[in-house]
Amino acid sequence: QIILAEVLVAKPKESWEDIAGLRVAKQALYESVILPTLRSDLFKGLRSPPRGLLLYGPPGNGKTLLAKALAAEANATFFNISASSLTSKWVGEGEKLVRTLFEVAHENQPAIIFIDEIDSILSSRSSNENDAMRRLKTEFLVQFDGVASNSERVVVLGATNRPHELDDAARRRLVKRIYIPLPDAEARAAIIRHLFAGQSHSLSRREVDRVVRMTEGYSGSDLTALCKEASMVAIRELGADVRRVDAARVRDVEMADFEHAVGVIR
Ligand code: ATP
Repeated sequence: QIILAEVLVAKPKESWEDIAGLRVAKQALYESVILPTLRSDLFKGLRSPPRGLLLYGPPGNGKTLLAKALAAEANATFFNISASSLTSKWVGEGEKLVRTLFEVAHENQPAIIFIDEIDSILSSRSSNENDAMRRLKTEFLVQFDGVASNSERVVVLGATNRPHELDDAARRRLVKRIYIPLPDAEARAAIIRHLFAGQSHSLSRREVDRVVRMTEGYSGSDLTALCKEASMVAIRELGADVRRVDAARVRDVEMADFEHAVGVIR
């Protein structure tokens, strides 16, 4: 029970609108998880939804965020587990946790089991490592097949930065694979706009374009760090006055703040 409390997340607060860009991935998840969960009557036979999905791509671009928002949109019970904690933190308990996890998910449908770093239990390497790893992996596959045939509305969503390390047994089960790329220019602009929603800045359109050009190769989490850093400059300038200043008198974030922040973040 204690270990399960760590992975069962109360209804996530993240919403679909919190995810900037990622149009293709959102559409794929909408059709393969949200709609089938909300309208299971329409998704039978040829339209049967995938029971295992894989989000893959470089770190920090919204895989976890997507999983949480997906659970919120589908009104599903959400289990968030890092596969590496199964092999490190819960040594010896991993198999039991996996069994309980799938049982509880089955009892609380619709449910999404999100497994971050899924390669660490389902890699082709892990099965050669030791007995405990082999047993954990087998248990996972057995449980997966169990819910796939008995629990109509339990979905397993894996995430990985190293998709090539997954073995064949894993690939066969994670049939729907969705690439989560680094944000392109349009997506970076959307993320920046999203981060500044409800907060004032004095950047012109051309300056926003400049920030977008300066941040080629940034991940979503790099951009978040950059915007946070830029927004702190005006606060730091106030020195000790920050304790007394009227909030309305704090100046807007401006282009120079981004130039400073790029130097720090890089
Ligand atoms: P990891 O592989 O390291 O687990 P991840 O792909 O799961 O990374 P997240 O943890 O979802 O990435 O993203 C990290 C943070 O970056 C988010 O909490 C969010 O603040 C920001 N972020 C990333 N992508 C986006 C996006 N598309 N829209 C809005 N925010 C984003």
